[in-house]
Amino acid sequence: MQGGCPFAFSAATSGTTPADGAAVPEMPVCPMGFGSRKRSKTAQSALTCTRCDALFFDPVKTECQHYFCRACIQPCTDCLICGADIGTLTPEPKLEELVDLFMELCGDAPAFEAALAARTAAESKTGTPGEESGISASETGENGITMQEQPDVQRGSTHVSDKDDEARANYLLECALRSMAGGNMAAAAARFGRCRAALERSASAAGDAPWSEDASCRLGDICGSQGICEQRLGNFDAAEACFKNSITFLKKCPAPSAQVAHALAVSHNKLGDLHFLRSDLVQARCNYRDALDIRQRTFDVPSKGGENDADVTAVLSLITSMLKVADVEEALDSHEAASQCLTRAGDMLASVSGCIAPGSPEEAKHQTLLDFWLKSMAALEA
Ligand SMILES: [Zn+2]
Ligand SMILES: [Zn+2]
Repeated sequence: MQGGCPFAFSAATSGTTPADGAAVPEMPVCPMGFGSRKRSKTAQSALTCTRCDALFFDPVKTECQHYFCRACIQPCTDCLICGADIGTLTPEPKLEELVDLFMELCGDAPAFEAALAARTAAESKTGTPGEESGISASETGENGITMQEQPDVQRGSTHVSDKDDEARANYLLECALRSMAGGNMAAAAARFGRCRAALERSASAAGDAPWSEDASCRLGDICGSQGICEQRLGNFDAAEACFKNSITFLKKCPAPSAQVAHALAVSHNKLGDLHFLRSDLVQARCNYRDALDIRQRTFDVPSKGGENDADVTAVLSLITSMLKVADVEEALDSHEAASQCLTRAGDMLASVSGCIAPGSPEEAKHQTLLDFWLKSMAALEA
């Protein structure tokens, strides 16, 4: 891989229009500032994939010189920007390292430019002018950027404070959610993983056990989201590990609140869903029952329905857990256990219905649960 602007060729060919006459969208601007004085505004967009609208992950270049995440362009036959045949995909590790640096700097465009400029300056002092093209780094501002320096920037933990990790985690979470929304699950999974690592560093630096509820909860949620991405990628073992990590983090919480208990139950249910999907029904039952136990222990279940919205939500979550247990018990031919759960769920569905405001999200949820309950009852009696 030669050094230099990863967008140089695109910029040079931006005038060419494909044969079908499709308009070529505005070319990404070189994040290192070539040909532009408004660098800070363009760094983010230059590092963003047009397909998933998130920062590039495992970027590749098409034969028509357009850049995409590998996962975004691989299923396509035509370039999503210019419509040309994609041809061979060339890995772009240099671009990926720019993205890594950008993320490491929390998407701070001026800091990103400063880091690139510092590298260029360092390279021009100690560098080897003329090595590639006979033009020194200080003249071009590009040849001097050696990506080999990247690990030093990333792993320079001696100058990384807790606050940096906190900010980094927030930005990485934003990146992960963006990738997830854009459908690039591999990118999202990797970014949730990095977010988790930053948060763990931050939580550990803030003091060993017990962790704060906030840290436990966030780490639990992030591992759970990472697990969902891995599951969608078909990486069931990785997904299982993520859901288990989520449970481990949530259990670190010293005095679990209702919110933590809810998150814990959700992670047990996700683990159960995963095992259900893999036809390991016995393990799924175990996970669903864990979730149900947590909810029964934690929530104060009103016998005549909730007094307020919080109660209604709690009751609906509990009913969800009961229906999951009933479903898996029935699948395991444990009709008696399934029947018991369905009877209790039915009673609770009836008792809570009077406390639900018409048109509320709770009403929709109640209806979904009721439909599922009716279906399950019919199956049980069949
Ligand atoms: Zn993409
Ligand atoms: Zn193209």
